Amino acid sequence: MTAVPDDEACVTQCILEARARLEKALQTSKRNADSAQVLAVSKTKPATLVRAAWQSGQRAFGENYLQEALDKQQALSDLTDIEWHFIGPIQSNKTRAIAEHFAWVHTVEREKIARRLSEQRPDELGALDVCLQVNISGEASKAGVAPQELLALAETVIALPGLRLRGLMAIPAPCAANASETERRAPFRQLRELLEQLQARFPAASYPQARLDTLSMGMSADLEAAVAEGATLVRLGTAIFGARDYSHVH
Ligand SMILES: *Cc1c(COP(=O)(O)O)cnc(C)c1O
Repeated sequence: MTAVPDDEACVTQCILEARARLEKALQTSKRNADSAQVLAVSKTKPATLVRAAWQSGQRAFGENYLQEALDKQQALSDLTDIEWHFIGPIQSNKTRAIAEHFAWVHTVEREKIARRLSEQRPDELGALDVCLQVNISGEASKAGVAPQELLALAETVIALPGLRLRGLMAIPAPCAANASETERRAPFRQLRELLEQLQARFPAASYPQARLDTLSMGMSADLEAAVAEGATLVRLGTAIFGARDYSHVH
């Protein structure tokens, strides 16, 4: 991967490269060119770079830290078609602001948070699109619902009027450099199979309030393996905005 300095021209170039990389991965897997999208993960990056990405046609952005995201949303409030996704851990005292200021939340992992998001979602915004974060094998953090508890959580979330269950999200541990293709794909395959179980258990005809079409998986280092297993939203930070420097934030 190329090192990317923080400037607008580089972001423009990196967006093009990221799109090409996704397109190639989809082709390799014989998937339709429009069957997966890039979520640009802009945490720690300034609003100027988000604007540059938007100018290159990118619309969906992922943020992990609420206050940082709200500041950027304020700075970019003229971009009316930008779509903000919350992809960080959620504390219960933050649910109201998240419900009010995001289109998607990828990191729903417990019932209490889901209920609060649903109750606090303003009616005029329509249902909040959510993914359930799953703690699949080899998960780097302890975040996410255990696979054996997923069906119950999904059932609860589907019944909440302020939420629309879209699918699943995971953050697998990084693979060893010498991992085989099968090993790289294993956690993504597990997530895909879990989504297939949900689709079978909650068919669209009986559960029109759900729309189980999303696998939020794959990051800068493992996009190809995730796409090979059916990723529909790849969350790219470093590949678009360059390495992150946490020394000034949080
Ligand atoms: C930071 C982050 C990303 C982006 O990671 P890169 O390796 O920089 O592409 C994706 N998903 C989540 C949940 C993140 O926190």
